[in-house]
Amino acid sequence: MQIAIDGPAGAGKSTVARLIAERLGFIYIDTGAMYRALTWKALACEIDLQDEEKLYELARSTDIYFAKLADQQKVICDGIDVSEAIRSPLINAHVSVVAAQPRVRNVMVKKQQDMACRANVVMDGRDIGEQVLPEADFKFYITASLDERARRRILEMEKQGFAIDEKSVRQQIEKRDRMDQERELGALKILDDAIVIDTSSLSIDEVLNRMLAVIGET
Ligand code: C5P
Repeated sequence: MQIAIDGPAGAGKSTVARLIAERLGFIYIDTGAMYRALTWKALACEIDLQDEEKLYELARSTDIYFAKLADQQKVICDGIDVSEAIRSPLINAHVSVVAAQPRVRNVMVKKQQDMACRANVVMDGRDIGEQVLPEADFKFYITASLDERARRRILEMEKQGFAIDEKSVRQQIEKRDRMDQERELGALKILDDAIVIDTSSLSIDEVLNRMLAVIGET
């Protein structure tokens, strides 16, 4: 079984995706973490982020997978645990540039499809319902107002100990949304067969219950 969850940055996708996967005993695949890990590697290797050929080669040769350690899902990139490093403001600022390259996306989509064919999965991202799992059993589009998404992102970054300029967090989310919506391949959009949930004024439990009701698990 496949559950696809798409939506803009900071809408709460990964939180509910993880909880749904736990509840149903499915594997959770955070595709944003994969683009983030690739961006981390590209920056570490000082690759020009506009150089599509180099990024394509990097995407092909980089090993990215998820591992469970002490009950937490870790993102491993070429054997290194990058789970924390990929959440930095630096990665936030560059990930959509890397993710906009069509050849990079083709490699990543293939990796994601390979992961999904081995188990029941909950997968979240931007192009899951359209490109990665077009035959998914359920497709959700999780969204929230820009104000609410910025508020959540600020709280998250404060917890991680980053210094925050609220205005720039908001601007960066807007910019990332625009890039994710306007790119040539795998653009974020609401599909006709997706169930839309606006989480702006909902608790995590309320979102979860709505989704489980759709899936038929309540
Ligand atoms: O979900 P998250 O905010 O961690 O994703 C980080 C970035 O990775 C997104 O802004 C987007 O540019 C890219 N991404 C993507 N396709 C996906 C998942 C994420 O392009 N399926």
